[in-house]
This record gives sequence, structure tokens and C-alpha cells, in this order.
Amino acid sequence: MSDALHRAAEAIRGARCAIALTGAGISVESGIPPFRGKGGLWLKYPPEEYASIDGYLRNPGKVWRFWLELAQTLGGCRPSPAHYALAELESAGRLEAVITQNVDRLHQEAGSNNVIEFHGNFSRLACLDCGATRPTDLEHLDERPPRCHVCSGLMKPGFVMFGEMIPTDALIEADRLAQVCDVVLVVGTSANVFPAASVPITAKRHRAFIIESNIEPTEFTESVTDAFLEGPAGEVLPRLVELV
Ligand SMILES: [Zn+2]
Repeated sequence: MSDALHRAAEAIRGARCAIALTGAGISVESGIPPFRGKGGLWLKYPPEEYASIDGYLRNPGKVWRFWLELAQTLGGCRPSPAHYALAELESAGRLEAVITQNVDRLHQEAGSNNVIEFHGNFSRLACLDCGATRPTDLEHLDERPPRCHVCSGLMKPGFVMFGEMIPTDALIEADRLAQVCDVVLVVGTSANVFPAASVPITAKRHRAFIIESNIEPTEFTESVTDAFLEGPAGEVLPRLVELV
């Protein structure tokens, strides 16, 4: 581990362009429940029911109450030392961007400025009929699904649901970065979720150095990873940043 940590720090120090790719694992230490895997939210709340447009249209009241509770949970969470470590790398000029699959905005809260969100976030509501948007004001929302102020159509939070497209500008920018960067720091995400998983794979094809911080080995570890940092990101990343 110590050897991998030193090689990782050296790679970041020598990089012209380093980026990070983060997933649910980085936010678990902030108290945000994981969505996938054992103990994940999607086991208890099937995503086809609770996280798809069709599920929402079938039963807006039930699904909205679930989202409201989730948004309140997210709102009460604070960034972990891992989020702060990435923000520190950016402000030191050592990290170009964070590409995240998370919708919790903890990277921004920790101080990261260039955050590419594959799955959107809860900060705005969008009308399903006319497309009008407004900020998600949790204090003035209740258990009734929100209605549009323009056309009174049903509104949904601005995160990407199952059955929806990942925002094109996020995909294009992530792919561009994957091709030009020389270091990718993968944090708290496995190789199972595409298109996010294609970022380190593309970067590796362009000869980037891949650092992986996960609590256990993933399919990346044997295939693309150059330095595997095993353990909680909240412990590993601050040590890495210190070395850099
Ligand atoms: Zn509307």
C-alpha cells in the first residue's frame, strides 16, 4: 500500500492533466446510503418503481415521498475527508476535474469547482410538460408531488432517472478528458456501471496512469489499475494529497 501510495503521488505530481472519477463509495463515509450492491437502497426500493420516469408517472405520490426523504437525507450530509482531499488537489492546481456519478453535490460543497455530473442532481425541479425549471426549495415542498408554476404540469427533480439519457455535454466532456488526461484517480466506484466505467478504460488506452481507491479490489484492479489504494477513501486520499 505504501509503495502504491508513493507511486500514485508521484504520478499526480508529474501529471499535466489529472482527473478523478467518483461513485457512491466516496459518499458512504458521509452517511449517504449506497444505491447498488448489498444493503443498497435499490434492493428495498426497486429502481423500476422508485427511480424511473414510468414509475413516477404510475404513482407520483409514493415515489415523490421517497425522493423527498432521500433529498432530506442528502441535505443533512456533509463532505467526507475524501471530498475535501479532491477539492484541495484542484485548488493546488493538481486536478483538472471531478467526474461523478453522485447526485449529492458533496464535491461542490467541499470546494471542488469543476464537477461533471453524470446523473444530474436534486438542486432543480423540471416540468415534465413544458420543461420549465425552478430551484428545489425543500422548505416549501411537502408530500404532494410538485406542480409547475407555469403550466401546472407534474415536475421531477433534475437527477437522471433510469430510462433517461445521461446529459450529452457531461458525456462529451468526460470523454474528452479521458483522452487527454495522463492520470485518472478512480474513487469509490466499480467497473460495472457504464458509461462512467469507460473513463478509466479510455484513458488507459491513451496511456494514462490509473490510481484506484476502493475498499476492496474491483474489475478495474486487474485490468486497468496501476496503483491500487485499498481502504476507506476518507483515510487514503488525505494521505495521498499530503504526499503530493
Ligand atoms: Zn410546466
